[in-house]
Amino acid sequence: MFTKLLFPPVCPLCDKVVKIDEEGKLCRNCTGRARPFTGPACLKCGKLLTDDEEAYCGNCRKNSFHFRKCHITFLYEDEVRDMLVKFKYKNRKDMARFFANESLGRFKEVLGKAGIDAVVPIPIHKKRMKKRGYNQAAEFGKLIAQELGVPCLTELLKRTRQTAAQKELGAVVRLMNLMDAFEVDKTWLLRVREAGIKKLLLVDDIFTTGSTLECASIKLTECGFPEPDCLSISGTRGIG
Ligand SMILES: [Zn+2]
Ligand SMILES: [Zn+2]
Repeated sequence: MFTKLLFPPVCPLCDKVVKIDEEGKLCRNCTGRARPFTGPACLKCGKLLTDDEEAYCGNCRKNSFHFRKCHITFLYEDEVRDMLVKFKYKNRKDMARFFANESLGRFKEVLGKAGIDAVVPIPIHKKRMKKRGYNQAAEFGKLIAQELGVPCLTELLKRTRQTAAQKELGAVVRLMNLMDAFEVDKTWLLRVREAGIKKLLLVDDIFTTGSTLECASIKLTECGFPEPDCLSISGTRGIG
């Protein structure tokens, strides 16, 4: 309670102080300014479809991701991009509440039906963790896990190599670049197996080509987990 008085909740977009019971919501002025990722979407990767496509996008008709389905909450544009920058780089861990509330508002029911046993956030490298102090995907994942009533496994998947910004690389190169950047922790794998955990929900902040979630899905399915579901806070319009 005292922390809330010293650090009152603020609107995640304009940073105006809001009432305690309005924590994790946009203020009245900002309501509607974060654009949801909606419209006809690919049944597999969740990306928006163009007119001539039906159930699956062109990419998913050609290659199949190793995850079952990806759910995307916001369009990675304008205000949402600004909020994600604060969340990732400006020490604004508190933004996780807003992103989790909005994602659960959209997907809690489908995620409930998917029979998720645990949430696995996409890890960041320990050097980056040291610098930043937290992993934004894990902060988000913990709140999602709490609501679904399952554990959040922040140690199962490790980032073994720091990867450079990949924006300018194509999907295939990105994937090759990432393949040895993730590793499944052996000790945790045993624990997770003993606990009978099978169906995982991978969570991340941005879905661009899908190569990060794909790479993590490959590593986890290789360890015997069924195809995970994925939840991404945001997604770009197209692949690339
Ligand atoms: Zn606001
Ligand atoms: Zn697709």
